[in-house]
Amino acid sequence: MKGWAIWVILLLAVLGLAACVSSSPSTLPAAPAAYAEQRQRMVAQIAADGVSDEKVLTAFRSVPRHEFVPPDMVPLAYADRPLPIGYGQTISQPYMVAYMTELLELKGGERVLEIGTGSGYQAAILADMGAEVYSVEIIPELYEQATARLRRLGYPVHTLRADGYYGWEEHAPYDAIVVTAAPDHIPPPLVQQLKVGGRMVIPVGPPGLYQTLWLVIRREGDQVDMINKGGCVFVPFTREP
Ligand code: SAH
Repeated sequence: MKGWAIWVILLLAVLGLAACVSSSPSTLPAAPAAYAEQRQRMVAQIAADGVSDEKVLTAFRSVPRHEFVPPDMVPLAYADRPLPIGYGQTISQPYMVAYMTELLELKGGERVLEIGTGSGYQAAILADMGAEVYSVEIIPELYEQATARLRRLGYPVHTLRADGYYGWEEHAPYDAIVVTAAPDHIPPPLVQQLKVGGRMVIPVGPPGLYQTLWLVIRREGDQVDMINKGGCVFVPFTREP
């Protein structure tokens, strides 16, 4: 073969390799429009699974879930499953976040307490719906990451690093409380920090097994109505030593 032909073949091989590398889906971030399309599909799935509150679905169409997962999880950000976020914790499955949010029956402007900030995704959904959000996280690194992320993305969420068993007394009472890790009993301080008529959604049960999702409605005195909303699986509610 002539010398120049070998050079042409070599050049084509290098160009081909470069094209392969640059078109590999996991190495390049998708365009914003692609994420919007993935969100539409995720919302269609959540709606098909029974969530009908338009305010909730609108928030899910707007909050960029891919910004709340670690870089290697971005390709799975819009799959209807929980994903690891480090420190043994997870960002909850989109359907579960939507269902719990719907159970709070928010109209906009309510004061909402979240226990378990994690990635900050649930807090961002609540803020997008116009709630005044207070969120407590026990793991310092997750608290710091989520606080920085929420600020960078422009969600006005108040965050605190503490054991959420005690709620966040300073800003109580709350119209609604959402707990995103599972204790083995309902922390009494959370009931006390709920307004009369206020709603709390909380998974309760043994760690590492299935738990029960409860809708707790505060009544006069320390009375509550407890409504069983079915089985669920959450990371354990941990306690400060
Ligand atoms: N709402 C989160 C889900 C995170 S998983 C999201 O949208 O990503 C549950 C979180 O609860 C974890 O980050 C875990 O560290 C936190 N957690 C567990 N026990 C807690 C406690 N006693 N107080 C505050 N946060 C707690």
